[in-house]
Amino acid sequence: MHFEFATATRIIFGEGTAAALSEHVRTLGARPMVVTGASPDRAAALVAAVSAEVFSLPGEPTVELVRQGARHALDAACDVVISIGGGSAIDAGKAIAALATNGGEPRDFLEVVGKGTAIAVPPLPFMAVPTTAGTGSEVTRNAVLGSEEHGVKASMRSPLMLPRIALVDPELTYSLPPAVTASTGLDALTQLIEPYVSARANPLTDAICVDGIKRVSAALGRVYRDGSDRDARRDMSLASLFGGLVLANAGLGVVHGFAAPLGGRWKAPHGALCAALLPHGMAANVAALRTRAPQHTALERYAVIARLLTGRSDARAEDGIEWVRALCAELQVAPLRAWGIREGDLAGIVEMAARASSMKANPLSLTSEELTVLLSAALGH
Ligand SMILES: [Zn+2]
Repeated sequence: MHFEFATATRIIFGEGTAAALSEHVRTLGARPMVVTGASPDRAAALVAAVSAEVFSLPGEPTVELVRQGARHALDAACDVVISIGGGSAIDAGKAIAALATNGGEPRDFLEVVGKGTAIAVPPLPFMAVPTTAGTGSEVTRNAVLGSEEHGVKASMRSPLMLPRIALVDPELTYSLPPAVTASTGLDALTQLIEPYVSARANPLTDAICVDGIKRVSAALGRVYRDGSDRDARRDMSLASLFGGLVLANAGLGVVHGFAAPLGGRWKAPHGALCAALLPHGMAANVAALRTRAPQHTALERYAVIARLLTGRSDARAEDGIEWVRALCAELQVAPLRAWGIREGDLAGIVEMAARASSMKANPLSLTSEELTVLLSAALGH
């Protein structure tokens, strides 16, 4: 057996840890720039306590926005970048910290659609303070950026882009509205299920996935119904962190393979897309495995997932899919159609998804026909 599990991030977790944010920032630099998301109000006091240099993102990060952010950091002579926000703010901060020292065009560094130029110079020290529980971006080495020119999302990726510090304070998520709690929470669940069935899964990522899936199964419905449930919020913050650690080390799969081209062309949050796709992605993989590779180990892994989610020792892979379907219904997840996607778009999306980097870690390679069936099901009626 051979495997690698890497992280160079110092992880600080716990209720109230954000109170010491300024002290942690000072260990990284003297002139911080804060990157925040579209609704910085929730974190306003925290932002004000850290720095007067603030780069606020109006939406999900794009090539153009991170170019502006890197310029801002250089003009203000900032020597450390802190993101306080959801996955968008964290990915933007990560890319800004890398561009500030490496220079050049952001698109040159993008995988798939760009040149994939390597990050050669260590980025400015970067710290991530998540205010949602979903993306796990505080412990990953990639930043997902939209490229308006290509109409897709693609990653800048480098081990040098791992945050130096991830400060995860579950209290920052208490005021998240139910819809955001639902979509980000289902992204976290996707990011624990896909690495668990990934071709690159290993014993260390497995252990983290199993613990994380158990936490989500008990906590996600609870935080949706009652956002002030401290224990459940803590479990979701942990599950999100765990998802980041495993996706960075074992890869993702078909749900994220679709989320990249969809998120690039339609104005839908990443979590909402993953939520709409998750049960259908699981169903497509399980059906393809049963037909074409009934001895594949991923099939038994889907059964383990089903047992973790349902709590029943006799659960089969299909029971796990049903459990996720029921959760999506309870959490009022909108189908892809609600985001403006139509039947006429399917063929183009399938073609782009087949090239997405996440698709490579899917347990088996799905045919265009299987991908089309999956996507039409996620489209809804
Ligand atoms: Zn995701």
